[in-house]
Amino acid sequence: MDKNRNPFFTQLRCRECGRTYPKQAIHICEFDFGPLEATYDYAAIRGALTREKIASRPQTMWRYRELLPIDGEPTIGTQVGYTPLVRADRLARHLGLSELYIKNDTVNYPTLSFKDRVVSVALSRARELGFEVVACASTGNLANSVAANAAAAGLKSYVLIPADLESSKVLGSLVYGTNVIGIHGAYDQVNRLCSEIAGKYGWGFVNVNLRPYYAEGSKTMGFEIAEQMGWRVPRHTVVPMASGSLLTKIHKAYKELATVGLIEADRFTVHGAQASGCSPISEAMKKGSDLVKPVAKPQTIAKSLAIGTPADGYYAIHTMRDTDGSAEDATDEEIIEGIKLLAEHEGIFAETAGGVTVACAKKLVESGKVASDESVVLCITGHGLKTAEAVAAHCGAPRVIKPSLRDFEELVRDELGSLTKS
Ligand SMILES: *Cc1c(COP(=O)(O)O)cnc(C)c1O
Ligand SMILES: [Zn+2]
Repeated sequence: MDKNRNPFFTQLRCRECGRTYPKQAIHICEFDFGPLEATYDYAAIRGALTREKIASRPQTMWRYRELLPIDGEPTIGTQVGYTPLVRADRLARHLGLSELYIKNDTVNYPTLSFKDRVVSVALSRARELGFEVVACASTGNLANSVAANAAAAGLKSYVLIPADLESSKVLGSLVYGTNVIGIHGAYDQVNRLCSEIAGKYGWGFVNVNLRPYYAEGSKTMGFEIAEQMGWRVPRHTVVPMASGSLLTKIHKAYKELATVGLIEADRFTVHGAQASGCSPISEAMKKGSDLVKPVAKPQTIAKSLAIGTPADGYYAIHTMRDTDGSAEDATDEEIIEGIKLLAEHEGIFAETAGGVTVACAKKLVESGKVASDESVVLCITGHGLKTAEAVAAHCGAPRVIKPSLRDFEELVRDELGSLTKS
């Protein structure tokens, strides 16, 4: 690819009025405040990008780089992505499904959440645009990823978070030597402050002025799902929603693959999952409305999803509706049950957002929105050790004994029974 110009990534375009903009650090249309989105020359990509070409490249999210919005080669987060798509037969049986997969971004490199995807694109673009300071407003995972990837790239970073996040998410930013700013307030207040700082200081905020680039990184989760399923899309995809961006971008990814001829244009449905304590998108969707009513005080253990005024809520609702999808929400109790279901059936320890996704998928099956003989992918987006305190009190404790065989046998006598060797 040309070092300074990506012929496939053409411009930014307003989602509302269609006005086009140059590929700069701007994110809102100046006429109607609509969000700007990256556009591509699909006809050119159709000729240039084949399954064989993709297969010949390293197993990272950058194997689809013609469909990502940077001009040169990626320079930050070059190892991110291509996480496992796990066939989940034991969980499938429990839920009453026949073909279930887990897209396992709990093991995304380097910070164990899907946010490494969006940060890789945003920071690679930030460097192309000449930013020396990068920053973000975050519910935790984004802060971790900006901090780690900026450290590795030698960029100065500031991450702003609600002050009451899980301790592992806070530590998971501090350790990289970044500037961590805790804000007394909810995510929406953090985000508003970041918009002011971005305007005043000209820093590269990955999810404010760099948002059109950032958001496109989420598509790679969809590209990978399709490739890993043998170049087809699952009948159902269940996606956790915070701002709603990931959900819209997985949809965009499936559409683009069909547009450029990498898959058949099959029917697919995208469902959204939120926590009951902060479910503005699911609420609106259930009411049949596309007016997202802000949640002023989110109350949920799924802090990574606790965005009261979701920037892409409106578009997420239309995406679900256009694909015949539904939205569900899960209480704290159901979230913990979801985490344990996934752990005990598939050996995957997900953070609270993963519990939300599993719990909502269960409801979608129970209500018949997902039929038992249809293929389903659950997007599991972050690692459980990051939200350990949410489940710590619900997993029991080790049984402690002296280092003696007799004590051990006393302990397990009734459990082992006929399984013992002698
Ligand atoms: C950020 C995040 C999401 C979803 O984010 P969107 O804003 O909807 O794109 C999902 N899961 C986890 C763990 C996250 O950190
Ligand atoms: Zn516009």
